[in-house]
Amino acid sequence: MSRFDLSLLEHAPRVPGKPRHKTREVRVGDRVIGGQNPVAVQSMTTSDTFDVEATVKQIHALEEAGCELVRVTVPKPEDAGALSAIKGRIGIPLICDIHFDYKMALAALDHPVDKIRINPGNINKANDPTHDRFRQVVRKAKSRGIPMRIGVNAGSLERDLCEKYGFPCPPAMVESALRYIEVAESEGYHDIIVSLKSSDVLVAVEAYRLFAQLADYPTHIGITEAGKPPYAVTKSAAGLAPILLDGIGDTIRISLLGDPVPEIAAAYDILQATQRRVRRPELIACPTCGRLAIDLEKIIAELEQRLSGRRLPVKISVLGCVVNGPGEAREADIGIAAGNGKGMVYRNGEEVRRVDEKDIVEALMEEVARWESENAGKIAAANPTRPGELEGLGRRKLPVVAG
Ligand code: SF4
Repeated sequence: MSRFDLSLLEHAPRVPGKPRHKTREVRVGDRVIGGQNPVAVQSMTTSDTFDVEATVKQIHALEEAGCELVRVTVPKPEDAGALSAIKGRIGIPLICDIHFDYKMALAALDHPVDKIRINPGNINKANDPTHDRFRQVVRKAKSRGIPMRIGVNAGSLERDLCEKYGFPCPPAMVESALRYIEVAESEGYHDIIVSLKSSDVLVAVEAYRLFAQLADYPTHIGITEAGKPPYAVTKSAAGLAPILLDGIGDTIRISLLGDPVPEIAAAYDILQATQRRVRRPELIACPTCGRLAIDLEKIIAELEQRLSGRRLPVKISVLGCVVNGPGEAREADIGIAAGNGKGMVYRNGEEVRRVDEKDIVEALMEEVARWESENAGKIAAANPTRPGELEGLGRRKLPVVAG
C-alpha cells in the first residue's frame, strides 16, 4: 500500500504528447499553413530589400538551409518596388513585413507577394475606433487573395490595452489580436495567421496558450529579439518548446542577431526535440563518466558523419556502459549497450548480435539500413508529401520481459 495516490498513474496517458491544436488552413503561396500541416520554418532577410541582388542571395542561402517561408521588410517605396523582382527569382513563398505605414502595405500588395505581415497596433491612427487604415489593408489583401499575419508584439501594444490590463501582459496581447481578427472578419476576410511575440518567454508562452483557447486561427510562433546565439537559441527553445508541446504553432521563426541562416537549423532542432517534425536520425548518447566502457565520442562523431544529411526518423541509442545502455537501447529503434570493449546491438528492442568496439559504427549502419527498408512503407504512408519525416519518433513500448 503506497501513501501516494497511484490511481492517478493508472489513469494517466501512457503515450505522451498532445495532438496539434486544431486550426484552420491558410494557403501561403504553394504551402498550406495550419490544420495538420507541418510547422513551417520561416526566416527574415537582413539586407536592404531594395537591394535585389543581396536579398535574393540571402534568400537562396536560406532556401539551401531548408527555410520554407521568407519575410522581407518593406519600410520604403523602393523596397515595395523590389518585391516583384525578388519573387521572380526565389522558390519559397515571399512575405512582406510592414510596420507603421499602411501606405507601404497597400503598395506592397500591388506586387505578387504570398503573405503580408502587419502590426495593426502601430498602423492605425491613434484613437480611431473604425480602424480605417487597417481596414484598407484588409480590403486590398482580400481583393488580391493574399493572406495576412496579424503580428501582435508586446513592445508595441495599443495604449488602451496597456491601460486596461496594466502592462503588455498575455491577456492584453490576446485581446489585441482578437480585436483585429474581428475587424478583419467584419470585412469577410479569414485568411489570417496570428503571432503574439514577446521577448519575455513567460509572456509569450501564456499569450499563445490563451489565444489557442479562444481562436482557431493558425499561429506563427517565436520569441522575439532573443539576441545573440548561443543564449538566443536556448532562450527560444525554452519558450517555444512548451508552446509546441501544447500542440500550438503552425509556423516558427528563431530570431537570432546577425546572419539569419543559422536560424533554420535551430528551428529544425527545436521541432525535432519536441517531436513536431522529426526528419533526421535522433542520436541518444550519454555524457560519459568514469564507467565508460568504449570511446563514445569517437563513435558518435563517426556515426554523425555517416548519417549526415539522411532524412530518416530513426531513434538510435549509443550509451557508454551497461547502467542505462540496455534499457535505452531497447526503447530506441536501434541501440548499442557497451561493456568491456564490446557492444550488444539491439533492433526494435531485441538483442541481435554482439560486436567488437571497432565494428560498432558499421554494425549500427547495417541496422539503420535494415530499419529503413523495414519501415519505408510506413514512413511514406505517414507522410506522402515529406519523405523521411514523421511527427513523433521511436518505439514507445518496452518489450514485456518474462519472469
Ligand atoms: S551510460 Fe554509463 S558511461 Fe554513460 S554516463 Fe551513464 S553510467 Fe556513465
